[in-house]
Amino acid sequence: MPQHTSNLPVCSHCDGFPNVAITTGQTTPDGQRQTITADCPACHGTGHTTPARAYARAGA
Ligand SMILES: [Zn+2]
Repeated sequence: MPQHTSNLPVCSHCDGFPNVAITTGQTTPDGQRQTITADCPACHGTGHTTPARAYARAGA
């Protein structure tokens, strides 16, 4: 059965949720909760495992 989403395998490090907002527990001067956004270091925020060849070609 063909898949119409993506043929890239889901990143096993973050299970496809590469962008995580971490609440620091502190509030900004505006009174909003201060959060830190972190990208999955394994897939660089893509949510998929990327062949190293692709990064080499991109020069990253
Ligand atoms: Zn990941």
